[in-house]
Amino acid sequence: KGNDGKFIVTLIEGDGIGPEISQSVKDIYSAANVPIKWEPVDVTPQLKDGKTVIPDEAIDSVTRNKVALKGPLATPIGKGHVSLNLTLRRTFNLFANVRPCRSIQGYKTPYDNVDIVLIRENTEGEYSGIEHVVVDGVVQSIKLITREASQRVLRFAFQYAQDVGRRKVRAVHKATIMKMSDGLFLNTAREISKEFPDVEFDAELLDNTCLKIVTDPTPYNDKVLVMPNLYGDILSDMCAGLIGGLGLTPSGNIGDECSIFEAVHGSAPDIAGKALANPTALLLSSIMMLQHMGLNEHADKIQKAIFEVLAEGKTITGDLGGKAKTYEYADAIIKKLK
Ligand code: NAD
Repeated sequence: KGNDGKFIVTLIEGDGIGPEISQSVKDIYSAANVPIKWEPVDVTPQLKDGKTVIPDEAIDSVTRNKVALKGPLATPIGKGHVSLNLTLRRTFNLFANVRPCRSIQGYKTPYDNVDIVLIRENTEGEYSGIEHVVVDGVVQSIKLITREASQRVLRFAFQYAQDVGRRKVRAVHKATIMKMSDGLFLNTAREISKEFPDVEFDAELLDNTCLKIVTDPTPYNDKVLVMPNLYGDILSDMCAGLIGGLGLTPSGNIGDECSIFEAVHGSAPDIAGKALANPTALLLSSIMMLQHMGLNEHADKIQKAIFEVLAEGKTITGDLGGKAKTYEYADAIIKKLK
């Protein structure tokens, strides 16, 4: 907290549509009197000794404030840059990625009443980046699963389920085929479940989960799904599709020390600077952030206003079939706050 009693939160506005959708968040937060002071930082990557690094001021800001809201970052292709998103995740050891997917009233999709929470292990698995050529034409990529990282994300998933009142944690895996790696994840899940007697636990094979979710997602509504990295990456985008796509999907990257909340979509260069972007995903990410900070009253109030405007369908952005500019949509939300 700063001298004025407000929480200081790092703001990474991001590239492309980032500044426009960040402006909507800032306007709505000041209208709702949220006790937050934004600390904007620049994360434009610098190349240091051939490696992509984030400027020290940005790292210091997140380390100091412990919480950040982040807009989309464009990853330059073919310049030897590592994805900045991956760099942020590694720098702050953000071990769990939380992706709630909830149907939005007013935006019709083939499925109603979806309310799935998916938690993805964010640091290892197939994305460890350990690959090599054995001989020409043969490459090997190593899927790394450790008890420590598994325990960490699983304990977080159970704690999350308990905190938000979800009945069950379900581990999604392929331990039938990957007996050792997914087997370790699954056995660790069984062990950790004993620490949480109030939360039920079961497990399901990934292919089975995919088939069942797209057939009828509603049985997943009272559960938290937790899984290794690659499965979580794919399944969370699939679930985003169930509720209308990436423009509406928030996420949180949780670490022991710091957490970074961000929209799932990218910088949308095709519509940047035209006030066409939908700020909902970033707004809902900021709501997750408020809940994480214990500012639930403010979170509820803003969320209610967002859902009301979307349900009315009068002042919505082009991606949802409306005509409103980004700031007109934000203004409509601000009017609902009053
Ligand atoms: P994208 O998500 O930026 O865009 C895909 C399509 O969705 C585009 O047509 C875009 O106009 C639309 N769209 C996305 N967000 C929208 C919003 N809020 N409102 C309205 N329409 C929206 O994906 P892309 O084009 O593949 O990627 C563009 C850049 O973003 C790339 O440099 C990529 O690396 C980066 N990216 C960053 C993140 C992140 O920071 N988390 C995630 C994905 C992609």
